[in-house]
Amino acid sequence: MDKIADLTRAIDSRREELIALTQDLIRIPTLNPPGENYREICDYLDARLSARGFQTELVRAHGSPGDSDRYPRWNIIARREGAHPGDCVHFNSHIDVVDVGRGWTRDPFGGELADGKIYGRGACDMKGGLAASIIAAEAFIEICPDFAGAVEISGTADEESGGFGGVAYLAQEGWFNPDRVQHVIIPEPLNKDRICLGHRGVWWAEIETFGEIAHGSMPFLGDCAVRHMGAVLSEMETSLFPALAAKRTDMPVVPDGAKQSTLNINSLHGGQSEILKPGTGLPSPVVPDSCRMVIDRRFLIEENIDDVQAEVTEVLERVKSGRPRFDYDIREMHRVLPTMTERDAPVVSTVAQAIRDTLGREPDYVVSPGTYDQKHIDRIGKLKNCIAYGPGILDLAHKPDEYVGVDDMVDSAKVMGLSLLTLLGSKT
Ligand SMILES: [Zn+2]
Repeated sequence: MDKIADLTRAIDSRREELIALTQDLIRIPTLNPPGENYREICDYLDARLSARGFQTELVRAHGSPGDSDRYPRWNIIARREGAHPGDCVHFNSHIDVVDVGRGWTRDPFGGELADGKIYGRGACDMKGGLAASIIAAEAFIEICPDFAGAVEISGTADEESGGFGGVAYLAQEGWFNPDRVQHVIIPEPLNKDRICLGHRGVWWAEIETFGEIAHGSMPFLGDCAVRHMGAVLSEMETSLFPALAAKRTDMPVVPDGAKQSTLNINSLHGGQSEILKPGTGLPSPVVPDSCRMVIDRRFLIEENIDDVQAEVTEVLERVKSGRPRFDYDIREMHRVLPTMTERDAPVVSTVAQAIRDTLGREPDYVVSPGTYDQKHIDRIGKLKNCIAYGPGILDLAHKPDEYVGVDDMVDSAKVMGLSLLTLLGSKT
């Protein structure tokens, strides 16, 4: 039991180091798109973790979307072997951050520390989580040098754009094979007392309505694809949106509004390009013969992907049956099935107990409204014993003046360290 007190002290004594590490990571602007400075941040992590006895490997996801010599998709996997055989606990963090956007009052890549918070793009999503997991692992190894199994830390590319140049690639290459990794913790910003078991499903599709081009002064000679799309939208409002709102899930999705099926219209475009090249004058008057809409449907574990698709096709067929000359096409762009780790999975019960011991309260079990890299670990890696757990407030992700609280990072590092102690420390 002394080990718990030792571990707590070891993490508390690294508070300044944790702050400095988080600041260093924020100061490497790993914007995605386009995928900047992945090599730089991997080299930084390589230098740090190699110096502490980790074997490191840098893996470039050749041929993944966006991978080029200008913007190579680099990933790092660092592994520290214990003194005895045992399980491997893997912490996976994405190294990329989203666009800065407007409305900042702090330097988005300054890593400024003020009132116990570190500011910057990626502070909570998720460089603070990456830093906390590194400090947790290093503290654990110091107080328990004869641990069993292995600790792995990965920094992976492109989570914000689907993870294909990151975790998906590594999973295809066998890095998340259950033979070599048994427990995965993804330190996404879910709040320090919550365990995220999984996420809803995603179905992206592009719907196109067709028309016939004609002179804009005589639209009756053509057929307006935008009006056809208007009829689709109207039918969606009447029948689809109410039906989706009525579907409730037993998954513990947060926030509450996401405990139902949802559909977002990501984009809508008909007719000529919105952006005319400079110097080309006004648009010419034509009836649009094509209108395209991208939909983002998020679905529940209780729903079947075939039904999700059929529901949208039925909307289009209903419009077609009541509307002369209506024709459409629908193309799937992307799909991710919902996933949810069982509450009695070893990584869940271990982290839950560590939260009780560290924070003195029961953890909340949640499911994310959107997906993250667990999808690839589950589907490609076939590894089910995976959760997201990390410091930071989910609502701050991708916002201006994003920050992570230092106390939250310290607390969640203790939870992670204690989890390592439970999973790897008690065996001989
Ligand atoms: Zn994230």
